[in-house]
Amino acid sequence: MKEEKNYHMDVEAFRKHGKQVIDWLADYYESIEDYPVLSQVAPGEIRNSLPAHPPVKGESFDDMLKDVSDIITKGITHWQSPNFYAYFPANVSGPSILGELLSAGFGVQGMLWSTSPACTELETHVMDWLAEALQLPEKFYSRSTGGGVIEDSASSAALCALLAARERVTNNRSADFHEKMSKCTIYISSQTHSSLKKACIIAGISDNNIRYIPVDENYSMNPDELLSRICQDRHDGFIPMFVCASVGTTSSLAIDPVLQVGEICSAEQIWLHIDAAMAGTAAVCPEYRYLIDGVELADSFSFNPHKWMFTNFDCNCFYVADKNELVKALTINPEYLKNKYSDANEVIDYRDWQVSLGRRFRSLKLWFVIRYYGLEGIRYHIKKHIGITKQLTAMIQKNADFEILSPVSLNLICFRHNKGNDFNKKLLDELNKSGKIFMSHTVLDGKYYIRLCVGQTNTELSHVEKAWKLIEETADQLKG
Ligand SMILES: *Cc1c(COP(=O)(O)O)cnc(C)c1O
Repeated sequence: MKEEKNYHMDVEAFRKHGKQVIDWLADYYESIEDYPVLSQVAPGEIRNSLPAHPPVKGESFDDMLKDVSDIITKGITHWQSPNFYAYFPANVSGPSILGELLSAGFGVQGMLWSTSPACTELETHVMDWLAEALQLPEKFYSRSTGGGVIEDSASSAALCALLAARERVTNNRSADFHEKMSKCTIYISSQTHSSLKKACIIAGISDNNIRYIPVDENYSMNPDELLSRICQDRHDGFIPMFVCASVGTTSSLAIDPVLQVGEICSAEQIWLHIDAAMAGTAAVCPEYRYLIDGVELADSFSFNPHKWMFTNFDCNCFYVADKNELVKALTINPEYLKNKYSDANEVIDYRDWQVSLGRRFRSLKLWFVIRYYGLEGIRYHIKKHIGITKQLTAMIQKNADFEILSPVSLNLICFRHNKGNDFNKKLLDELNKSGKIFMSHTVLDGKYYIRLCVGQTNTELSHVEKAWKLIEETADQLKG
């Protein structure tokens, strides 16, 4: 009897093609500096290279991989190039990629402990490891009142924190929920990440109830202004509910005075969330732990190993001081998910710690990174990036045509040529078009700054020296 065609990739083919993909990636990393960092394609170019209709007959894996080389790679902006300095990094590493691959291979859903115990327990364990690495206070450990969870992004962490804060004040099940909600106010600064505003949109908090606290000359939130706004709001019948302090703003890596803000929040009984998306990683180094001083006063804290800790997106570490408050805000318990372990309250079910139900086995990649590098290895690279940034600062300071936004902190430099905004825009555009480096920009007090962030896994001093030489030469050419 003729065997029926079954279309699947059989195990032998999987073994062969899997090795091909790893080889493809290894070759890619070896030659990554040969590609233009910023993809040079025009809108629509990638789609126009693809067949209009899906194939009816399955294709060979070799043809698929060839199209990755010939078509897809052209439309890639090479975030893993050591010449990538834009935005904030999304750096990755060998152990992380392999952990991610295993996670895909297991393909488990970790919404409940019982749907895959290792998925939950490894996550809890790795989060406790990181709590220790960051010297977080006892309350953020799983053995205590709180605990950590891996969210997909800092944006989701902020949303969950906001929902827990909302629940603390309003109780979603009460009759006066909407009336109360309309009085809840939240406090951020002009420099707070846009994800907080988005979280308010999703959580049903009116734009009119968002308070933008003024910042000082370093773009840090002014705690006196915070306190006086809170008092005014109470006087006007509002319910101050939530404050977000940033450790490392996206524009300029400004640090809010967490300790002072925390003292105000404790006294006023307002939820304090700390958003340390990129800069939080530096606190793994004892000499930079001071960056998160005051975290002991926070209700929640989050940072992104998927930015600056060699761990593939998505991996945000989110800690809460009281897990019951978070779970109360987000819990659901339909019949089809009931099981004896959850019912007995013996286990953590991370579905109640996040927005979606399903969840990936994200802790594998983080576990691999921490084990492969050790804390020592992570600290070595973080300090190296900060050191390179210091050296670049000295190079820029030698050129009188340029000014730096001071103070330079950690691994980000914002700088500008003295010929004005339009010139700097043109300069950045020219540099990015060259394909040799990729940087981004920000505007502070009406001044256009070029942002250079050192954080890609393989960026060395030599890359930054070359980048600075190119910046100087290009500026001189444009000056004419
Ligand atoms: C990058 C960043 C975010 C958003 O991070 P996602 O993980 O992409 O949501 C939030 N806050 C700050 C300060 C950031 O730098």
